[in-house]
Formats: sequence, C-alpha cells, structure tokens
Amino acid sequence: MSITTFHEGDKSRAICSHCAKMVSTTFVRRDVQFSDGNGFASNVLVAVCDKCGDVVATPAQSTPAFRAARS
Ligand SMILES: [Zn+2]
Repeated sequence: MSITTFHEGDKSRAICSHCAKMVSTTFVRRDVQFSDGNGFASNVLVAVCDKCGDVVATPAQSTPAFRAARS
C-alpha cells in the first residue's frame, strides 16, 4: 500500500463544490476550520481551488493534524 505524499505548491485536480466542476488545485498550508465549526487546525496542508480559493480536499496525511488540534 502506497500513500501519495503532497507538498506545498503541488498541483492536482479535484471537484470544487463551489465551482461545481473539475478544477485545478494547488496544495497550500492553511488554518482550516472544522466542518462542524468547532475550532480549527492550524498550518494544515490542503488543496485549494485555483479559481475560487476554496479548500476542496484535505489529503489523508493532514488527518493527524486535525486529530491533534482537536485533542
Ligand atoms: Zn472553486
């Protein structure tokens, strides 16, 4: 089993819910609010839409950062 590791500045493609279509994305470090609005994780690597800037994907490698921020 191999896990793809992303780095800041990497490019990818994903479906953006805001743009409602496939867009190019860039991986950046962001402070990301939890989906339930109950706090945020700082400096997490996420993929953002190149068109609107929304966070469109959170790679699996960033999950531990969320978990750590919650505890
Ligand atoms: Zn978008």
